[in-house]
Amino acid sequence: MERKGAQKKQVSFAGKTNAAGQQKKPANGRVKNEKPETSREALQSANEELTTINDELSIRNAELKGANDYTGMIIESLNDALLIMTADLKIKSANKSFYRSFKLTPDQTEGTYLFDLGGGMFHIPRLRKKLKSLQTKNAGFSDLEITQTFTTAGTRTFLLNGFRSLPAIPGSTIILTMQDITSRKEMEEQLMENEERFRLLVQNSSDIITVFSEDGTVLYESPAIESVLGYNPNERIGRNINMDVIVHPEDKEHKLGLLKKAALHPDTNITGEFRLRHKNGSYRTIDAIFRSFLNNKKINGIIANYRDITDRKILEQQKDDFIGVASHELKTPVTSIKAYSQILEELFKKSGDTRSAELVSKMNLQVDRLTTLIVDLLDFNRIEGNQLKFREESYALNELITELTEELQRTTRQHAIITRLDRPVQMKGDRYRTGQVLSNLLNNAIKYSPKGKEVIITTAVDDRQVTIAVQDFGVGIEKEHLNKVFERFFRVAEPVINTFSGLGLGLYIAAEIVRRQNGKIWVTSEKGKGSTFYVSLPVFKYSAGINILHPGKKVD
Ligand code: ADP
Repeated sequence: MERKGAQKKQVSFAGKTNAAGQQKKPANGRVKNEKPETSREALQSANEELTTINDELSIRNAELKGANDYTGMIIESLNDALLIMTADLKIKSANKSFYRSFKLTPDQTEGTYLFDLGGGMFHIPRLRKKLKSLQTKNAGFSDLEITQTFTTAGTRTFLLNGFRSLPAIPGSTIILTMQDITSRKEMEEQLMENEERFRLLVQNSSDIITVFSEDGTVLYESPAIESVLGYNPNERIGRNINMDVIVHPEDKEHKLGLLKKAALHPDTNITGEFRLRHKNGSYRTIDAIFRSFLNNKKINGIIANYRDITDRKILEQQKDDFIGVASHELKTPVTSIKAYSQILEELFKKSGDTRSAELVSKMNLQVDRLTTLIVDLLDFNRIEGNQLKFREESYALNELITELTEELQRTTRQHAIITRLDRPVQMKGDRYRTGQVLSNLLNNAIKYSPKGKEVIITTAVDDRQVTIAVQDFGVGIEKEHLNKVFERFFRVAEPVINTFSGLGLGLYIAAEIVRRQNGKIWVTSEKGKGSTFYVSLPVFKYSAGINILHPGKKVD
């Protein structure tokens, strides 16, 4: 098109040249004949020059159109809404994003004044002010955040930019771009709300939440420290727990050990108890959970959760004391009843009243059961209070087993208690406590084999230890419960639970006694077929008289 136009011009100009050439014969008949050659040449060169200019012009025209198309494409592909307006804010054109964002058509938009658009929805005082400055002072603006309810688009938040193209020319174009940041704002607000929620959670938790750096410097301290330990968080933040110690001197090593362990095992909860000094000088017992987030760039610390369990500990102590006192108080009268009933049994036997003797004997067995329960309660209490005492004496194991089995055999007619003992060995430890363990295993073997006929106790002596096995052919234990039977209060929960009475303490106490005598306890069992409980204990002296613990020492 442009090229054609340019050619047209060239043709008309060539026509003029021809006419100029024909001026040799003008209408008035006068012919100017001066330097005809030169004029023709000059005209020809001018003609050529003009042709070149024409060519250049058409190239420029094409370039301009290209640039125009290019700008148009950019404007159309913009995500931001864009308005091109005259200097008096009459809309010349808008891009697709504008029409999409504001649900308007070109007909409703083009030729309309900005402030009349959509029933005056752009009539926003802050925008008006900025546009005024742009109109009067050529002062462009950027990132003007505006939240507005637009009649056609609802409530949205935009970042507005306004500038003037060719500001020096009066009547130049004003361009307004609008970036819709509504969803970004909503997300930011949501994030802030979440942050606020977690901040409130941490700040209002009654547990103290602390963040330590790897070297033990307090990076964060939650406000709960004030109510628990009397310190303002700022008194602790920045302090190093190794230099500025509030942990009880006896618990320091333990607490540092917990922190070290947490640092070595990221993402694992490390729990423990210790005492911390209150600002008033008293100590509070703390139940702590440490978890290392040293590998987490956002936290880069060890988070500690401290719960004040001082009051709970006091209550627990009171409860333990109560159980201790109550079982002790119970034990005295039960011991007396036992003594009287034994005398009574003897008297009945002597007087030939076998029926009464039998009844009293049954009563005796029940008193024994009661005594065992009370002793278990007392021992449990001692274990919990770390007060279980052990005697150190030398005793013959086989003798102890024989004594126990004979005594137990008197209590059951149904079960034959069979002993298969290895060579005699001398033990060093607490005879009574070891007897308690074996008696517990034997009693369980009888109790949990209501249809069984035999209970077998075996010993096997090797280099350093003796292993005692108590086998029954009773109800057995499911595989999943095998490890749990040594836990305190554990009882297999089955419909038969009422058949077998007990406190779930016997094996816990037995395990503790064995552990304290450097031994091991374990069980193998098959449900419905029976169980074998094993105890292994270090041997002090073999029958040959060799002291295996101190081979050079003579033993009696
Ligand atoms: P208790 O007998 O008072 O319940 P124990 O600590 O002695 O408590 O035993 C814990 C649990 O282990 C018992 O409740 C029982 O379920 C199981 N158990 C112990 N000994 C045997 C056994 N010889 N055979 C089968 N189950 C047993």
